[in-house]
Amino acid sequence: MPLSHSRAATYVDRLNAPGLLDQLATPYPACAPLRPPAWNVDPGRVRFEPFFRKMYGASAAEVERQLTNVDWFGQRLRVTQVNGAAQSLAAVAAELARLPQVRPFVTPSAGTFNWRTIAGTPRLSVHAYGAAIDLNVARSAYWAWGGYREGQRGIPYRNAFPLALVQVFERHGWIWGGRWYHHDTMHFEYRPELTGPAQCAAALRGQP
Ligand SMILES: [Zn+2]
Repeated sequence: MPLSHSRAATYVDRLNAPGLLDQLATPYPACAPLRPPAWNVDPGRVRFEPFFRKMYGASAAEVERQLTNVDWFGQRLRVTQVNGAAQSLAAVAAELARLPQVRPFVTPSAGTFNWRTIAGTPRLSVHAYGAAIDLNVARSAYWAWGGYREGQRGIPYRNAFPLALVQVFERHGWIWGGRWYHHDTMHFEYRPELTGPAQCAAALRGQP
């Protein structure tokens, strides 16, 4: 696929029409301490859609052919097998099972595969590819629930999710929507190009 940068001048335009290189432009702070992200810093939220469609499927039917079931604390979730995402989520579940104190955030899951766009946008959600999971909505915060507009300054950051939970996902290659200025704390998506065991080990050694 062509390696290009978006020509868009504003963040919101770039979000809607990125190039492949834009999705790697903001470093993801894997396993770092929790802090409110700066204005419009959303590492991993800019995605070049043709790249994802090519990997995971360009229609609901194409994506569904690659799905398999993952046991999520008794819930059956459909996740893509592409890139080892389903296997990775099963490993996350096994590790989280050893942290009973985080269980109220982890269950019930609000879902994985769903062929849909992101609310209020024309952009396909990573849920459409079967490579994202939403955790317990009742414990979550979402930037748009406050009635704010995309790209607006001063959106207040809220999060109740513990770092220990987030780090388990990040070690297994899942980025967290709670690291975004446009925060979505229930949301994790499989992005092993941005986070994983090597990035987390480096962060825990205090390196960038
Ligand atoms: Zn989500």
